[in-house]
Amino acid sequence: LKSALFTGVKIFTGKEIIKKGFILIENGVIKKVGVGRADWHVGKQVDNFQSFENKNFMFIPGFVNAHAHSGMAFLRGAGGDRTFEEWLFKEITPREAKLDAEAVYISAILSQMEMARNGITAFCDMYFHSDQICKAVSEFGMRASITRGLLDKGGENGRLEENLKLFDHWNNAGNGLIKVGFGPHSPYMCSREYLKLIAKTALELNSFVNIHIRESEKEKEMYSIEELADTGIFNVRCLVAHGVYIKEKEMDILNKDTVHIIHNPSSNLILANGIAPIPQFRRKGINTALGTDSVASNNTLDIWREMLLSALIHKGNLKDPTVISASDAFEMATLGGAQALGFEDTGLIGEGYKADLALINLDSSHYFPENDLISNLVYSGRSSDVIGTMVEGEWIYYFGKYPKIDERKVIKKAKEKFQQLFC
Ligand SMILES: [Zn+2]
Repeated sequence: LKSALFTGVKIFTGKEIIKKGFILIENGVIKKVGVGRADWHVGKQVDNFQSFENKNFMFIPGFVNAHAHSGMAFLRGAGGDRTFEEWLFKEITPREAKLDAEAVYISAILSQMEMARNGITAFCDMYFHSDQICKAVSEFGMRASITRGLLDKGGENGRLEENLKLFDHWNNAGNGLIKVGFGPHSPYMCSREYLKLIAKTALELNSFVNIHIRESEKEKEMYSIEELADTGIFNVRCLVAHGVYIKEKEMDILNKDTVHIIHNPSSNLILANGIAPIPQFRRKGINTALGTDSVASNNTLDIWREMLLSALIHKGNLKDPTVISASDAFEMATLGGAQALGFEDTGLIGEGYKADLALINLDSSHYFPENDLISNLVYSGRSSDVIGTMVEGEWIYYFGKYPKIDERKVIKKAKEKFQQLFC
C-alpha cells in the first residue's frame, strides 16, 4: 500500500480528536491530517482512496509494546501461580533450554500476530537466537528494537560478540524498521565490569541498552542504583524494565533524558512482584512506557490490558483518582513507547510522522455514547475492537487477516514444533 487516502474517519492523533477527518499517506509517511471531507482530492490522482463515511471507525497511533520477549510464545502459561524465583528458575529456564532457532523464529511470528491483532505496531525485544527474531520481524513487517539477552554470571560464552554481529547485520534493516540494541538481562546476572563494557559498546555505536532493574523486592539488597549509574548504562539510551522497587532518592539518579521506565503491570502482578511507582516517575518528568513482558508472565501480549491496568492500579494503590488519567495511560501506550524505542517520528498522528496506525471499530454498544472518547478507549475499549494495524503505510493486520504471512502454515508449524520439543 504505502500510499493511501482515508476519509470519513474519526482520528485521535494522540493530542486531539478529529470527529470526521482524513489522513493522506505517501510512501509510508503521513502527508496530511485534516478535518472534513478532503474535497481537495476530487479530480486529483490519489492512490488507494478509501472512504469510511458510513462506518464509525477511528484511527489512533499504533501501540508500542516497550518490553517483550517475542521468542517465548511456546512458554505461555508455563509455571503460573508460582513465586518469582520458582517461576523463573524451575519452570522457565529448563523449558528455554529446549528452544532452538526454529522455535524462536516461529514464536516471534506468533507473537507478532498476537501483537498486530491488538493494534501494536512496534515492540522492544530481549531474547536469544535474536537473528531469528530479526528475520521474523523483517518478514512480518513490524517495527522493532531487538536486543540479545546478555549475562556473564556463569560465563559470558560470546553473547556480546553475538549481539555485535546482530547489530552489524540487522541494525537499520528494512529501511530503519529494525534497530538493534544490547540486552544485559539484569544487574544480578551481569557483573559491573560487563555492564561497563556493554554501556561503552552501545554508546560507541549510538545504540541503546535494554535491561530489567528492580523487578523483585529481593533485588533491593543485591545492588544499588548508584553502582549501576557508575557503569555508564544510564548515559546511553536505556530502557529500564519494571523499576518496581526504586526509591524517591534513586529516581533522581534515573532522571535523565536517556532513561525510560517500562511499566509491565500484568507481569508484576501475576508474579506478585508489586506495583511500580509510575506516578512518581512521571512527576519527576521521567518518560514512562508500557510493556506486556512475555506470555510466560502475563499471559497475553494485549497492550490494552496494560493500558487499563496502568490507569486503574495506581488510583487504588495511592487512593487518588488523578494520578494516572486515561490520556496518561494512552500516552504511555503510544508516544511514551515510541520515545523509549527511539523511533522519534512515530507515536502520534501528524504531518511528517510515519504511518504507524491502528484502526478501531467504534460501532459497538460499549462505545456508546461518546461523551469522552479517550475515556471510552482506555476504560471501555478492548483489543478485539482493532480492525486494522498499519506500519509505515502497510497493513500488517486487516479485517482478521495478516497480509504478509500464511497464518495457517504458521499455526501448523507451531503445533508440530511444540509437539517435537515438549511432548
Ligand atoms: Zn522481561
